[in-house]
Amino acid sequence: MIVVKTKQELQQALKPFHLPTHSIGFVPTMGALHEGHVSLMEAANANHSIVVVSIFVNPLQFGPNEDFETYPRQLEADQKVAREAGCDILFCPSVEDIYPDGFPQIVHVQQGANVMCGKSRPGHFDGVATVVLKLFSLIRPEAAYFGKKDAQQLAIIKQLVNEFFMPIKVVGCKTVREEDGLARSSRNVHLTKAERQYAPLLYKALQRAKASNNRNVPELIELVRVSLAQIPSGSIDYIEAYEYPSLKQVEVATGRIILALAYQFSHARLIDHVQIDFSNRGEA
Ligand code: AMP
Repeated sequence: MIVVKTKQELQQALKPFHLPTHSIGFVPTMGALHEGHVSLMEAANANHSIVVVSIFVNPLQFGPNEDFETYPRQLEADQKVAREAGCDILFCPSVEDIYPDGFPQIVHVQQGANVMCGKSRPGHFDGVATVVLKLFSLIRPEAAYFGKKDAQQLAIIKQLVNEFFMPIKVVGCKTVREEDGLARSSRNVHLTKAERQYAPLLYKALQRAKASNNRNVPELIELVRVSLAQIPSGSIDYIEAYEYPSLKQVEVATGRIILALAYQFSHARLIDHVQIDFSNRGEA
């Protein structure tokens, strides 16, 4: 594995591989790598001759009162994880390298960004789409690997690639969880001991609602709200449900929906979701 820190070094390293004899798989991350990231790298490794991983904490996707400054950064440990997971080129650019002139142009996501995390984090998905467009332009991979954990992000990136006619396959990979069901996240390190004990309730609440087989969306949301009331600290940021992947509003679900939540603990905002496909279910 080689580590490159600038665009120039990256282009130099990629030169021999932009040939039909090679296939580049790309995994964009913000670092603090865990098993979730590893699963994406392994999927890329299984399908491509070259795996490029980026580690970049993108300032444009953080709001003014969010955790950009405190987001965990651990480059040395990350290098080891990436190497062992089969990464060939690790790209760790600086903010100046990605945004040399500040933000003279950004992508504005019109559809799918006004709900869920887009509603509580205004501009977040514009930041995500902008950095992904930049990274895709630099790396020109055949495929890019994203976690289904960030389901809204995955839907928006698929839309981005479609809209701008980018010849890149976007692959969604299954959410990796701790044994108790908590979705792996770089932000989990910011949970207090007590919060860590309660955090698995997020997924349990979603699973309980899913198991109810209720097609009525407001009632599904209420079921999650009732379960989350068991958590003694923190607050619900949102509990929402939409058709997926269109993220269109739905009152009574008939097809595939996403039931999603964000929960604010003292120093970590966690997200999770379940998908429910009512088209395959009998009458509830
Ligand atoms: P992040 O570093 O949090 O921006 O995540 C980088 C990529 O890893 C994104 O595509 C995430 O969806 C994915 N990812 C993060 N956590 C998980 C997880 N627990 N399981 C699978 N993929 C994940």
